[in-house]
Amino acid sequence: MNFKPEKNRSARDRILEYFKLRVGEIINKDELIEIAKISDWARRVRELKDEYGWEIESFRDSHDLKPGQYRLRSLEQGAIAPRIVTAEQRRHILQRDGYKCQYLNQDGKMCGLKEGDPHPYRKGRRVTLQIDHIIPISLGGNNEEDNLRTFCSFHNALRTNLYLADGTVDILILIRKLPLEAKREAYDYLKQFFEGNSNQLTE
Ligand SMILES: [Zn+2]
Repeated sequence: MNFKPEKNRSARDRILEYFKLRVGEIINKDELIEIAKISDWARRVRELKDEYGWEIESFRDSHDLKPGQYRLRSLEQGAIAPRIVTAEQRRHILQRDGYKCQYLNQDGKMCGLKEGDPHPYRKGRRVTLQIDHIIPISLGGNNEEDNLRTFCSFHNALRTNLYLADGTVDILILIRKLPLEAKREAYDYLKQFFEGNSNQLTE
């Protein structure tokens, strides 16, 4: 591997550069230690993921990775969610929210998934906890703590790209992102709703 990082770059930059060169490939922690030349390389990897939005997977996200293995899924920054939340804010929000996903379903029941819990729909995958913007950055939301909350990766992904320019939810994208089983539920729900409320439909 002809990888010669520039000397004056930070450990985080060097790690990112290495991930980008090997996007989609499994990278072992030994390689990262060598590239980073610092002991808290794992923290730099977390920062790239949580603060800069690089979609770096670990064994917590994907069952084909072992502990100590990582993979950059995409060269697109912000693939996880658009956010620059500092590590300190993240810690604070997680603590405030009791390290549980705060997503409320239609009945007002909280999701409550914790870091590493099994993914509700994707077999073999586990959820991570992520920081969600209540009002998305793209719609003028900010990084103040009252605009931040803890979501599991499943519910955070559900929220990403769900909004139209006018701030309304794009129901089609929402439904398209659902697993098949949930799509069927949505279909049954809509069918029942429209059959039961056909008199309320406008012409
Ligand atoms: Zn959740």
